[in-house]
Amino acid sequence: MNENLINGKWLGGASTLQSWNPSDTRELVGDYAAADAEQMQQAVAAARAAFGAWQHTTTQMRSDFLQRVANQMMAEKESLGLLVSREAGKTLAEGLGEVVRAAQIFQFFAGECLRYGGESLPSVRPDIGVQISRHALGVVSLITPWNFPIAIPAWKIAPALAFGNTLVLKPSEYTPGVAHALFRILAAQGLPPGVANLVNGSGKHAAQGLLSGVDAVSFTGSVHVGQSIAQTAIGEMIRLQLEMGGKNPLVVLDDADLDVAVECALNGAFFSAGQRCTASSRLIVTEGIHDRFVDALTARMRAMVVGNSLDKATQIGPVINQSQFDKIQHYLDLGKREGAELVEGGSPVEAATPGYFVRPALFTGSHNAMRINQEEIFGPVASVIKVADYDEALVTANDTRFGLSAGICTTSLRAANHFRLHVRSGLAMVNLPTAGLDYHVPFGGTRASSYGPREQGRYAVDFYTSTKTAYIAY
Ligand code: NAD
Repeated sequence: MNENLINGKWLGGASTLQSWNPSDTRELVGDYAAADAEQMQQAVAAARAAFGAWQHTTTQMRSDFLQRVANQMMAEKESLGLLVSREAGKTLAEGLGEVVRAAQIFQFFAGECLRYGGESLPSVRPDIGVQISRHALGVVSLITPWNFPIAIPAWKIAPALAFGNTLVLKPSEYTPGVAHALFRILAAQGLPPGVANLVNGSGKHAAQGLLSGVDAVSFTGSVHVGQSIAQTAIGEMIRLQLEMGGKNPLVVLDDADLDVAVECALNGAFFSAGQRCTASSRLIVTEGIHDRFVDALTARMRAMVVGNSLDKATQIGPVINQSQFDKIQHYLDLGKREGAELVEGGSPVEAATPGYFVRPALFTGSHNAMRINQEEIFGPVASVIKVADYDEALVTANDTRFGLSAGICTTSLRAANHFRLHVRSGLAMVNLPTAGLDYHVPFGGTRASSYGPREQGRYAVDFYTSTKTAYIAY
């Protein structure tokens, strides 16, 4: 049994959570203690008790700690990457890449906590100075999904600790093992009791146990869960950061380099089995290139190797679980009923091991108003929407409740610049996939995709600190 970390002690839970390998559903990854709401509240109380001392630790101490975590993650990157692959179904390259990314994030915030500061301004009144300083918030609840089981906890934990907060992490029920491995590293680097607490457990218990008695909540996951967290958080006057879904467009114009456009679509739509909030699920293609693009993309899709994520040849691993598998099949049926044509993929894959394997799927003849183009499927499914020209492409790209990432493939500087300025999203990509980001710059979207201050990079400080404005008479 793998226990939760509460107040510096590894503790059993009120019940048990089992984690299974989506590439081989016979393989149990591990048994994990599942905290109930009461234990989650104990973790919040431990974080509260630890906050007083932690907020006053030196920035050097916190920087050294974050750097040691980064170093240890790099030292264990192969085994951690393998665990990400076994538990989340990522290919070996994706699993390893995510671990390295998580380590880089800890390293970035090891530096960032030495750099953040305030401002000093003259007052508009005589003989007065104004000083603006940043202060830790207190206790932060972090609630995370399964699709980036180590990078997302990292990009919340590292800034929370860097800027002097204490925290409780509630990871996804589907990836408790990766979170446990991360906390084993945190604990081994000399973390004072209660500063960072791990509570594997259910979302229901998190709703009851992690949204009161805290100063802020940072959530990544689906829109409907984000909305329910927001309702409670606002009632409790808790600071809120929500990162949610997407229905990200990739626009391909007649003047695009066809190879670049196909590569962007293939990567953006289907890598990580399409289970990325930044996945390109709407391919908005102008008439002149449409047929060549569809032919070239389907040819590449047919060649993709789908299978067990631990097999080195695999390019697309399984989707995470049965309900995600069923949801994808539901949307494939729905798309056909709505009148789109499934021209490639979608069929379950019979692999050597029993798992949730789906061949990457492409619809053509779809319209933006169709549900397959408005609702997040979160699987290896994309649809092509044919449009007349750039103007129609931009209107179509923006015709969604989401606004996370948006891409354009074009050789026109004018179109690229216009798109970058006018697409309603938090991320804009020119001749690049909609997914695949740097860690030192802000990340987030607009409308139903994000709520609250940005995550990552220097901008993370805005969520994890509050400012105090002091007026001093000389
Ligand atoms: P989810 O919303 O089902 O779960 C996310 C987390 O919330 C889990 O830890 C879950 O246990 C918890 N939870 C569930 N109900 C809760 C409740 N009532 N109160 C508090 N916590 C609760 O999402 P998921 O299926 O794990 O992840 C997929 C979703 O995450 C997709 O919509 C995807 O787009 C989104 N996502 C967004 C980003 C981003 O940064 N924008 C990144 C990755 C994933």
